[in-house]
Amino acid sequence: MAHLELITEAYIDGEVLRLPAGERYDTLNPSTGAVIASTPVATAADVHAAVESSRLAQPRWAATKPADRGRILTAIAQEIRAQAPELARIEGLDTGKPMTMALGDVESTARYFEFYAGAADKLHGDVIPLGPSYHAFTEHAPYGVIGIILPWNAPLQQAARSVAPALATGNCVVVKPAEDAPLTNPILARIATECGLPPGVWNVIPGDGPTTGAALVADPGVRRLMFTGSVEVGKIIARAAADRLIPVGLELGGKSPNIVFADADLDRAVDGTVLAITYNSGQACSAGSRLYVEDSIYEEFTTRLRERLLEVSVGAADEDPDIGPIATREQFARVRSYLDRAVELGGKPILEVKPTVLDRHPDGFYVGPAIFECAQDSRLVREEIFGPVLVTARFTTDEQALKMANESNYGLVAGVWTRDIDRALRFSAGLEAGQVFINNWFGGGVETPFGGWKDSGMGREKGLEALQHYTQVRTTIISVGQS
Ligand code: ADP
Repeated sequence: MAHLELITEAYIDGEVLRLPAGERYDTLNPSTGAVIASTPVATAADVHAAVESSRLAQPRWAATKPADRGRILTAIAQEIRAQAPELARIEGLDTGKPMTMALGDVESTARYFEFYAGAADKLHGDVIPLGPSYHAFTEHAPYGVIGIILPWNAPLQQAARSVAPALATGNCVVVKPAEDAPLTNPILARIATECGLPPGVWNVIPGDGPTTGAALVADPGVRRLMFTGSVEVGKIIARAAADRLIPVGLELGGKSPNIVFADADLDRAVDGTVLAITYNSGQACSAGSRLYVEDSIYEEFTTRLRERLLEVSVGAADEDPDIGPIATREQFARVRSYLDRAVELGGKPILEVKPTVLDRHPDGFYVGPAIFECAQDSRLVREEIFGPVLVTARFTTDEQALKMANESNYGLVAGVWTRDIDRALRFSAGLEAGQVFINNWFGGGVETPFGGWKDSGMGREKGLEALQHYTQVRTTIISVGQS
């Protein structure tokens, strides 16, 4: 499996491209804190070369028969599955993801290619009735080159989520992975080349935000942007896109409410609540990080939750625990600062686990699960922590629960637990969230549209819905001569 060697350079025009000697940075293994690679910071000139390569490749890719585009995407999905253990191992090395979770991410990555492969030849336009004198129809045309900027919490599947619909619709892509998790993206692009994707259709450039990311956003060859990351950087990118008048999709953060009513199936609700805050060590924009429990079951529910979270294992990626380390040193310091100041920030501790894995790996970026009871105005409730840290509060009426759930700048997802379907539907209709889980958390998948309301973003990824964001409509009106 020679082609799964680490690539710490750019991947442009179907080849690994060593960038001219310049600034480099260390990539760390979060399980141990050790340096695993040194990655270059691509300059604006390097970025421009990647964009030009994609720009030149794009007309031919767009002219490739949709069924043939779909066939190549299917081959990519198959090869990702064939390489799953290796891809998962490298993703785990780079991000600290436990093996089982990393394998799940690889499977989602394959699913994105499979799903959009099937969509490539089904992008029908409309015929618009104008009477006998005209014939009018619409087509969904690609933008050209799409610039994709990724975060570090799920590099493989977040890349696939944007790259697969972009390629299916005839665009080319230039992807900038996060500086803290750059290892798997160039490997994925190389797999695509080996599956028949023409050179230049999928380029990858490593680097930081202010130099490399900003150059990608500013490059005149880029005709649309897709950004996944923080609200703060999302606003910078939206401003830059506005200056260039190009569309941008933003998938930003979340502080998602999880509402448990007294009539819920409590076994399922406890399981779902544990998953919602421990999945990927809480480093998911769609984590369930604010728990609201009906007063009459609050003590019982939080006691059961505490017991379950005490059983959760925390360990190194290769030990395949329930919770791996925090993926980056900077994010680790951020989560720790919330934990260290939790009481000062108004949190009443219900649980704080000190992971024993620190005895084995003292320099790893580990935090255990934690629960704090908080008032709504606490920063622990208002701010996205992006770690396994849950805040809780009690409510007495549905109206109060809804008000508390919506009291957030974010609006990504929400969860509702009740056996009463009328209550569930009434309640969820009032939720300000792009996705609602009823009696589950993280239900759905590649097929279900995903994206935020309010500060959580704009545009939708996943599902057939995403195809709209990677295409623009051209309407053609033909005059029909009357003989
Ligand atoms: P996180 O908080 O998840 O680390 P960020 O929003 O800081 O996310 O970064 C997400 C991605 O945005 C990374 O790939 C990063 O390099 C990139 N980025 C950061 N700043 C900028 C910028 N000014 N312009 C373009 N990209 C940026």
